Amino acid sequence: MSALEAALAKAPRVALGHLPTPLEPLDGLSRALGPGPRVFAKRDDCTGLALGGNKVRKLEFLLGEVIAAGADTVITTGGVQSNHARQTAAAAAKLGLRCELVLPRMVTGRDPAYESSGNRLLDVWLGARVQIVERPADVIGAVQRIQAEAAARGGRAVFIPAGGSTPTGCLGYAAAALELAAQLERERLRVDAIVLAVSTGGTLAGLLVGLQALGLAIPVIGVGVYAPAAQVRPAVRDLAEKTRAILGGAALPEARIDLRDDWLGPGYGLPTEALREALAVTAGSEGLLLDPVYTGKAMAGLIALRRGRSLPGWNVLFWHTGGAPGLFAYPELAPSGDASHSPGRGPER
Ligand SMILES: *Cc1c(COP(=O)(O)O)cnc(C)c1O
Repeated sequence: MSALEAALAKAPRVALGHLPTPLEPLDGLSRALGPGPRVFAKRDDCTGLALGGNKVRKLEFLLGEVIAAGADTVITTGGVQSNHARQTAAAAAKLGLRCELVLPRMVTGRDPAYESSGNRLLDVWLGARVQIVERPADVIGAVQRIQAEAAARGGRAVFIPAGGSTPTGCLGYAAAALELAAQLERERLRVDAIVLAVSTGGTLAGLLVGLQALGLAIPVIGVGVYAPAAQVRPAVRDLAEKTRAILGGAALPEARIDLRDDWLGPGYGLPTEALREALAVTAGSEGLLLDPVYTGKAMAGLIALRRGRSLPGWNVLFWHTGGAPGLFAYPELAPSGDASHSPGRGPER
């Protein structure tokens, strides 16, 4: 057993995901994109719990801790179309916990479907109580009220921050590094770079710490979808340091944190032309759905870097972090501009 495996085994954990997730070549996409490194995907959209996604890995450790603490309720937050909120609701349902979601309006100017479909609809199916609040600053007050209510009935409500990005949540992605290393070894595959979407930073931080603990120096390119890189970097650094402190091992060199914000566009949850193209080419060449907030922009980054011959080596791994339920909240992004009148029509080739 590696030192990383041993350290992870000490943390409370509940089994939630279909793990390991598949690691597969995207040869249709590689062909559609023309000459360049072969594209592979790590399918964390297939973690299995209520349509899956990256938060399932974090929740295995976060909810392990919640249960060990004897709490009966989890509270979390995120945008109205938060994938993290939906996965938390699903995990709570499975574990017999109450789930409270406090969702601020973070994205403006959206279609009416934005507040009733996609993840927001699934939250209700999964039995969560949902409060939509006007601003992120309103979240704290709502959380305190829920915690007081829980205490009054003799229960205990634990708050999980946006994205599940705490050092405990990051353990899920340190464990994912271990999972990837085993797959690469088994398949005798070498990946020369990893590309993934970065919002609250826990996925990137956990993965980097896990790879570091294993002595794997694969470059990881984080494509920012939430805020400019200068704003996200300190959060990633801090999460990485605290996660490393739990797991032991050497500090993460600053140079390992490679954050790009060239594909953020006008901001979080706001579409760009490059996003639209990435969604269409991936769906049309692979039958693979990305999402309109995170993975679509990360793939836009991968495509641009690949076209610009800026990716090292022969194989690039796209870490698919999920989010496709969000497509239902962005109907205008569908290739024809009208999803209901275009049976079978793929993107132009
Ligand atoms: C939350 C999320 C991310 C970003 O993960 P962070 O750990 O917050 O950086 C990426 N993709 C999808 C689909 C997500 O839901």
